[in-house]
Amino acid sequence: MVQDEENECEILPTFHSFYRRLYAAAAKQAKTDKLNKVFEKVMTESSFCKLSPRIQCILRWIFACHELWLGLTFDDIDCEEWVEMANPDNPSWGDLDGPHAIITEGIGRIVETRMTKKLETKINHRVIKIEQTNQGCRTTSVASQSDKGDTSATITSAFVIVTIPVAVLAKSADDLFSPSLSNSMKKSLSEISISHYLKVYLVFNRVFWDKESTWIGVTADFPNKDPSNQPFMLYFNYYKFNKAPILIATACGEAAKLLEMKKEDNEIVKRALKPLYKVFGTHIEEWLEQSLVTRWGKEKYSKGAYPLGSFSIDQEHGSVLFAGDGITANGDEGSLHAACFSGIKQAETVLEILQTRNAPLQ
Ligand SMILES: Cc1cc2nc3c(=O)[nH]c(=O)nc-3n(C[C@H](O)[C@H](O)[C@H](O)COP(=O)(O)OP(=O)(O)OC[C@H]3O[C@@H](n4cnc5c(N)ncnc54)[C@H](O)[C@@H]3O)c2cc1C
Repeated sequence: MVQDEENECEILPTFHSFYRRLYAAAAKQAKTDKLNKVFEKVMTESSFCKLSPRIQCILRWIFACHELWLGLTFDDIDCEEWVEMANPDNPSWGDLDGPHAIITEGIGRIVETRMTKKLETKINHRVIKIEQTNQGCRTTSVASQSDKGDTSATITSAFVIVTIPVAVLAKSADDLFSPSLSNSMKKSLSEISISHYLKVYLVFNRVFWDKESTWIGVTADFPNKDPSNQPFMLYFNYYKFNKAPILIATACGEAAKLLEMKKEDNEIVKRALKPLYKVFGTHIEEWLEQSLVTRWGKEKYSKGAYPLGSFSIDQEHGSVLFAGDGITANGDEGSLHAACFSGIKQAETVLEILQTRNAPLQ
């Protein structure tokens, strides 16, 4: 675990100089070269290969956290893609100014508690068709109700703002839109990289870790880690936020995809527990009461985690506009604020057009 102040003092300047060196080296690399090659090359440079094994180990662990934040491992990321995002002179890239907040009941609550009061909202309806006709847009959705079979609903409107995730749109655009999207829009959608996460919720019958720490990091498997074999190295302490004795382990990128595709839940849970044994002992296995493994890559409404890269907000499809975390309004992407800003921007666009047409606002 990264705990002692001595390591912390030594590691921060080393991390910053390594990061700058990596950024400079990646900027000189061919566009499609993967970042992991550059990373390993910089690691062999004299100023870094002479570092103590312990500091090298922590340095690798910090970059593994960076991969976790991106949802992709460095062998998935092109140098050009990373250089565009990761400017060391802008250390808060990807973040919005202001404090962080955790919505412990899930962001679905925002829709349930706020939006359903003001708008006619159909929860648990799957949109299956968005048609543009001379009379406006017709959006058809279906809801599966076990006792009554499928029920469908159609809403007619002047405009539609689509917020279906880009990874889902890329797979379903042909069936969803009439007329269909242009080839260039379909190409843009299919070119967006989608990050992958696999989370393992470990529910124990007691809290045996530091209750106040947000994260528990296990550096023990570094630097010889094989991500496809042991991708878990960071645990989120859910107890701190909702008093439930839960640790959440996260794997990302190709390793997460492979686990999701090839391994049963019990095997994945074993791997998530293994690094914790090194810190707390193998007896913690007896304290595990339940576990839950997410499989968001296979989930048909998300097809992965968030997008890295985006679809321009200016891309038009008649009266159908797009918003969400894969649609950039001002450079943000892959975050709640990106989704929120693009939604507000598109709503303003619709209002402006309706006002110029003197159409009634509904
Ligand atoms: C593990 C993880 C951690 C994250 N952490 C952060 C963070 O700390 N900070 C941050 O800002 N962002 C974070 N994000 C990103 C953030 O959650 C997303 O960027 C944000 O939720 C995007 O909002 P959205 O409305 O565009 O898409 P979504 O939240 O994906 O909503 C799209 C909705 O469309 C629905 N849908 C799909 N297909 C259909 C259909 N055919 N008909 C009807 N509905 C459909 C889906 O079910 C879903 O509810 C995280 C994401 C993940 C996966």
